[in-house]
Formats: sequence, structure tokens, C-alpha cells
Amino acid sequence: MNNSARVIVTLKCSLSCKNCANNNKELIKSAREITSPQELEGYDDIVITGGEPLSVPHIVEDIVNHLHSPDRTIYLYTSGFSEKGALIYHKLDGITLTIHKEVIMPIWRSVLTAWESTIEEEKLEDVNNRLFIDSRLMNKLTFKPGVWDEVKLIRMLNPELCSIPENEDFFIFKENGNVFNCS
Ligand code: SF4
Repeated sequence: MNNSARVIVTLKCSLSCKNCANNNKELIKSAREITSPQELEGYDDIVITGGEPLSVPHIVEDIVNHLHSPDRTIYLYTSGFSEKGALIYHKLDGITLTIHKEVIMPIWRSVLTAWESTIEEEKLEDVNNRLFIDSRLMNKLTFKPGVWDEVKLIRMLNPELCSIPENEDFFIFKENGNVFNCS
């Protein structure tokens, strides 16, 4: 068993990015199924991802509320925003917002603005807030200076080249026997 767990909490996502790692069916099949946050108690680091995790904020809340501890880090990877999730954002150690080229401009603008307001209003200065921008959007996307701890351009990989880091165990969350699937 590794120290870190990467957990897909849903495969559901309103986007259909060509380079989505979830298009790598072999990778998804390799994820171990879990049905409760208790099954992750042995891990020091948790990475919550999807699909879009904030399309199922109740699962994210459940995991964070259950596993939040000074001895453990919890990171959320998202491309969206949910006001419903705001209750647990201050319990996270890191939030990584990725803006993909496939998102149309008015949407990424509203997602970015919602996060920037939340980071400022909820005083999330103890959270490591990272903004990742699809390199194909270089020079097209503007963000608020001073809000993000790190901003970086990322190059999207062919999904067949995506893999789970060696130090991580990989899980997929099932609720009532179902994975929340792509809509
Ligand atoms: S936003 Fe993320 S999960 Fe959704 S389709 Fe794009 S890469 Fe996949």
C-alpha cells in the first residue's frame, strides 16, 4: 500500500475534452472500487478527482469531512465550481483549478471569477490554490493577480500516455453500487 490515494468520485463531467484521461479505459479499469471514505483512512495524502468532482459535491463533502485531519493532506482537482462545496473548501490543503480549451469563454470566465471571489471571501490563504491553464489558451485567459499561489500552463497529454504516479493507489467511488457516470 502506498501513502497516497487518488480517488475518482464520479466519471460525470459536462465537458468532453479530447485528451481526458478517463478516455483511457484500461486506466479506469485499473481503479479499485470503494463505497465509503472509511476505506481511505490508512492514507496520508488524498487526491479527489473525476470527472468533475463538484458535480457530486455531497460525495466530496463526505470524504473531506470524514478524512480531514492535521496528519493528512487532501487535494481537490476540479475544472468547475460549486457553491454547495464551499462548506469544506477551508478544510482542504490544496485546490487545483484547471481551465481546459474545450470550455467556452463565458463559462471559464464565470468559473474563474467564482473561485477567485471564494478564495478571497472565504479567506482560503491556508489552502494551496493552484491555477492550471491549457497551454492552447496562452495569452487568451486573464486571472486576478495575487489570488493564486501558483499559475502554470499545462500541455494536455494523449490519454493513452496518462498513468497513475507510482506512489499512489487508485480508486473509484461507488455510491449505492453505482459510479456516477458521464452524462
Ligand atoms: S474537464 Fe476533466 S474530467 Fe471533464 S472531460 Fe475535461 S479532462 Fe475530462
